[in-house]
Order: sequence, then C-alpha cells, then structure tokens
Amino acid sequence: MLLLLSNFAYFASLKVNAFRAPLIKVKVTQQTSTPTTPASRAIKTWLKDGMPPLADVDDATTETADTTTALVDGGGGGATAISHARIAKVIKPRPYGLFLAEKGASLFLDPIFGSSTTSNASSSSSSSVAPLLHETKKESIIVLGTGWGAASFLKNINTDKYDVTVISPRNYFVFTPMLAGASVGTVDYKSITQPIREINNNVRYIEAEATNIDTSNRGMACTSIVCEGNSCETIEFTVNYDKLVFAVGAKTSTFGTPGVEEYCNYLKQITDAQQIKNAIVNCFENAGLPTCITNEDKVKELTFVIIGAGPTGIEFCAELLDFIEDEGPRYYRDLLPFVRIKIVEAAPTILRPFEDGMRQEAIRKLTRSILVEGITEPIQPCEILLNKQVSEVTAQYIYFKDGSKIQYGMSLWAAGIGQLPITKNIIESLTTTTTTTDNITEGGGGGGGGGEQSKAQDEFARGRVGVDPWLRVLGGHGHIFSLGDCSCVSHTPTLPATAQVASQQGEYLGKLLSNDYTIDAMSSSSSDKGAVSLLPPMINDHQLVSRRSKLPSEQIAAYTMSEANIAPPFQFLDLGILAYTGSGSALAQVQVAPSREGRGDETWDPVRLQIKGKVGFALWRTIYLAKQTSTKNVILVTLDWIKVKLFGRDISIL
Ligand SMILES: Cc1cc2nc3c(=O)[nH]c(=O)nc-3n(C[C@H](O)[C@H](O)[C@H](O)COP(=O)(O)OP(=O)(O)OC[C@H]3O[C@@H](n4cnc5c(N)ncnc54)[C@H](O)[C@@H]3O)c2cc1C
Repeated sequence: MLLLLSNFAYFASLKVNAFRAPLIKVKVTQQTSTPTTPASRAIKTWLKDGMPPLADVDDATTETADTTTALVDGGGGGATAISHARIAKVIKPRPYGLFLAEKGASLFLDPIFGSSTTSNASSSSSSSVAPLLHETKKESIIVLGTGWGAASFLKNINTDKYDVTVISPRNYFVFTPMLAGASVGTVDYKSITQPIREINNNVRYIEAEATNIDTSNRGMACTSIVCEGNSCETIEFTVNYDKLVFAVGAKTSTFGTPGVEEYCNYLKQITDAQQIKNAIVNCFENAGLPTCITNEDKVKELTFVIIGAGPTGIEFCAELLDFIEDEGPRYYRDLLPFVRIKIVEAAPTILRPFEDGMRQEAIRKLTRSILVEGITEPIQPCEILLNKQVSEVTAQYIYFKDGSKIQYGMSLWAAGIGQLPITKNIIESLTTTTTTTDNITEGGGGGGGGGEQSKAQDEFARGRVGVDPWLRVLGGHGHIFSLGDCSCVSHTPTLPATAQVASQQGEYLGKLLSNDYTIDAMSSSSSDKGAVSLLPPMINDHQLVSRRSKLPSEQIAAYTMSEANIAPPFQFLDLGILAYTGSGSALAQVQVAPSREGRGDETWDPVRLQIKGKVGFALWRTIYLAKQTSTKNVILVTLDWIKVKLFGRDISIL
C-alpha cells in the first residue's frame, strides 16, 4: 500500500545551476471564421488587445550558441569518454530490491532531506503568479497534453529553472479509471476532473491543439477555436520551444471497422461519458414509448453491446449492471426483463492482464442473476461472447465475421488504442529531417537524427514515438521527450498503455529535467547495435558531482548503478492492476515481486497478491481515492458515493 502511494511524493527541489536564454516565440499566422465548438477566450483577447510577449525572437540564436559552448565545455568532453559497454550496463534494470528501496526513499526520505526551492505544486504556491516569459531568462518547455503523463510532469518540474507552457485542447486533467462510473452517474464528471492551472499554477496554459510539429526548427503550428455567442473562429499560431514534452496520449482505434466511428460510443473523454449516460437513459425512455409495442422492439432498444473485454469494457459493463440493478427496479421495473448486455471479445478470454482465477471471478460476477422485487424470475442480463470479431456496424445491427449479427440500442467500442494524427506528424518530422544541430551536438559524428527514429519505428515503436531509456525522443537531439500512451521506450519490454506508466514517466521526467544533468549531449554514431546512440544525461562537472548533496533516492540509484554522475534511466514499478466487477466487488492483482520481463538479472518469479470480492472492492476504492490529484477531488468522489447510496443515480438526460 505504501508503495502504491509512492506516485504522490512530490520531488523536493534541487539547486539550479544555470539558466539559458528563453527560446519561445509566438506569432499569429492566420485568422479564419469557422463555427465549431467553444474554446478559450484568452487567445482572442490577446489577438484583440495584443498578445502578451511570450519571448524574444532574437533569443533563439543565443540559445544555440549556449548549447554549443556547453557541449564543448562539459558535455562534449564527456561525450567521447563514455564507452557503450558502460551505457549498456547503466540501462540494465536496477535490481528489484534496491529499486524498491529507491522508491521508498523518494517517498519518505527525499521530502525530509530535500530542499524546498522547487516551485512546482499548485496548492502550496497559490500566491505565486506565473512570470511573463519575456521577463525571465529561463529555458522554455512546451508540454503537449493535460493527461496522466503531463499532469504528473507538471507536479514535478522545477519552474524556477524552466518557463513551462502547456498546450492542450482540454484545460483539465481527467481521472480516466473512473470514467466508467461517470458514464452511468456513479460519480459526477466534475468530481474526476481537475483544472490544469490548479495542478501547477506556475505554468502558462494555452487552450489549443498542436497540428504540425517541425522538429528541425523546434517549432509547431497550433490551432485554437474561440467562440463568442454562437459564432466561433479558428485561430492558428506558431510556437517555438527549447524543449518539448510530447504527451498527447492515444485515440481509440477502430481497426478500420466500417460504421464504428458513426454508430459506436467511445469512452475516453468526459464528453464521451456524458454522451453514454444520455444514450443509456434514452434507450430506456425509447423502450417505454407507446410505439415500442412488441417484446422484440423492447429487447432491441434495451440491448447494450460492449465491444472489447479489456479493463475498460469490463468496468463499464460492471457499472451498467449496477445501474440496472439499483435504478432499474425503481424507475424501469416493467422494462427490466428486456434488458440485454452483450460483451463481445475477439480473443478467447476477457481481462487479459489478469490471472485465470481472477478472470473466472469476473465472469461469475458479470453474468450474475439479479432478483427484482415484483418480477418472479431472476433476470440475467449479461452475456459474454468470446472469439467474436466485429466486421461492420450499422445504425441497427452489429455484424460479425462469423456471419451472425446483433440488433442493438446502444454500443460502446472499447477495443483498442491507436495513433493520433499529431503523433504520426511528429514521427514523420523526426524521420525525414536532418538538422544542422546534428553535427554540433553529436560531436561531429552526425548520423542519428531521422535514422534513429526510423530504426525505432521498424524495430519496436511501431507508430508510437520511440524514446531512449531516459525518455528522450530518438532523433530529437535531446530537445524532445515523450511519455505515456504515445511513446515506446527502447531497451525494455513494451510497457502497457496505462495511467500508471504515464504518471511514473511524468514524475521521472519532471525530476530529470529539474536536475543538473546535461540532457542533450549526443555520442557519435554507434557501431554497437546493443547500445544506445545517445549519451546518457550526465553531470559533467565533477566538482559539482562531489559538491552536490544527493537526495537519498539518488544515492541509492547511484550505488545500484555504480555511477555517480549518470542519470538513472526510467524504470517502471509495476504496482499491479485493478478492475471493478460490479455489485461492490473488485479484482486487485497487486505485484509484490517483479514480472519475468522486468526482473533484470534476478532469479525470483513474479509474485502477485490476488484479492477479490469485498476486500478487493475496499482496496479498489481506497486506491482510487488515494490516487485523486487533489483533496477536493477526494471529497467530491466520496460525497458522490454517499449520494448514490442514499438517493440513487440521477437519470435526467442533460
Ligand atoms: C475508460 C478508461 C479507463 C482506464 N482505466 C485505467 C486504469 O484503471 N488504470 C490505468 O493505469 N490506466 C487506465 N486507463 C488508461 C489511461 O487512462 C491511459 O493510459 C493514460 O490516460 C495515458 O496517459 P497519457 O498522458 O499518455 O495520455 P492522456 O491521459 O490520454 O492525455 C493526453 C492529453 O493530450 C491532449 N492532446 C491530444 N492531442 C493533442 C494535440 N494535438 N495537441 C495538444 N494536446 C493534445 C489531450 O487533450 C489530453 O489532455 C484507462 C483509460 C480509459 C479510457
């Protein structure tokens, strides 16, 4: 449990060594009128009244010169001194026992021994206002995204050292594991969101979407939709960065199945949850219409099809069953015998990340019979259909490859994740461009650049952004970092696309950049295929290494790696998985020793504690409460649970 809480430890600040000139610049390139969705008025105001000067354009050249000097003075010297064998040793997983000690120290000891100069957390620094970027002499970081990875990064980045600007079309963080609950009204939407400005109020936020990234010139085009009354306009502008943190997540993948985009619901955003809740209640209201006469008509209206039996599909099914069990007898008693829930899965099993015994428990809970007062026969609404692949979805039917079909009232597509257009765009930019900085930063070695990312795409990244073990984007020359669902780390088994991974990576990167390492040093091109071709982030100033007082967790990592001045690479601590199975029951598979892939050189087999039923449910609720990003959210979620217990879920269609 204590380890589960480790993600919440904010990193205490470290002394800032040197500031570099800001590089960010913003200019408006176009204004058009396109009525669409509402968005921030801020940018419009800037355009009317004059954009606050975010940076001085001339500083761009200063920055490049600084980089060169830094490499000649420090990074460059170190660059040739590190053997690939030494790098290969460092990127091996740190032994599990010592890694646990490192995590424990970061949770309990670092806050005691660390200094408190980092301007990161929001609530503790509510009085400090983000300085205008032109007033400062700090390096600029653009963070794309406000999801798990970005939010965790923002909690840990030292804003005394960097000017941080967040760009995302969504100005809030969403606690995605509770979206299923929100989609049936178990929790309120507002209870599981937090404005990004609350998470860190020392950063600037721009409500926009990045549409085109030019990695060779360290710039990007963005689009924002600004509405006033009923009229909206699209505003386009460009932004430059010193460093880019690419954390845009992923989109739901339809695998090209016809009709999915038009007729299926997704569950990824708050708006999706709102849409689903309305759709569920609408199905009941439609089934109650005087025109819905036959039993077949009613069954059609009340057939809910969930495509994908991973954690998202199963948790949604569990919440829907709870809704039907709790609210059905109260509001729709006559309609309950017509309700059907069908979980469709292409694989031969559900909940693949769980052990077999846990899956059987989930199947038992989901296919349970429900006794309804006033109805003689118990109803058993849920059916699980395995080895069934959807071939097409139309307004009325879901068709399967085996020739069968289901008539449905509402469907949810929870079958997989895919690449966002902006991820495709950055990969294209990384694989097609070779910059002038290749020769500067790579110690004359050249190479690297686009080739590294192309190789990563072929070998392991496959549509995600390939990053090295320090989360630096391959081919990004140490200026671009990527984390979460949109990225894939080299030299390690593929990590799952989960909030756990994204938030650990965000925390890691925030601390790494807040530290004194030379991040963007590159080695000359490598002939050793097993080695990384980027040099690890290093503290090249040996006096600084000995002078600098390390935090306890850093000392343990340095001892483990036998390296005092190389930054420890990212290592994922698998804390286990949870899944709600309905009716106050949940599965918790808690990892107490590493999985086979993550064990490094150690010899033990994975040990997983399996907890289910009411105890699992208590653990599930405790962990989800503990994982909320603010005390406000903890209170709101708790109050929602009490409210639902006392008064039931709200069934208004809003
Ligand atoms: C219903 C559901 C339940 C889940 N349950 C769990 C769970 O129980 N446990 C678990 O570990 N994981 C869970 N996950 C997975 C988890 O939510 C993801 O792995 C996690 O959100 C990934 O974090 P991220 O930071 O990579 O991306 P996200 O959290 O998806 O954030 C991406 C951000 O990028 C922004 N963005 C997108 N495009 C652009 C652009 N062009 N420009 C700028 N910004 C952009 C988005 O608006 C968003 O703010 C669940 C996911 C879902 C959908």
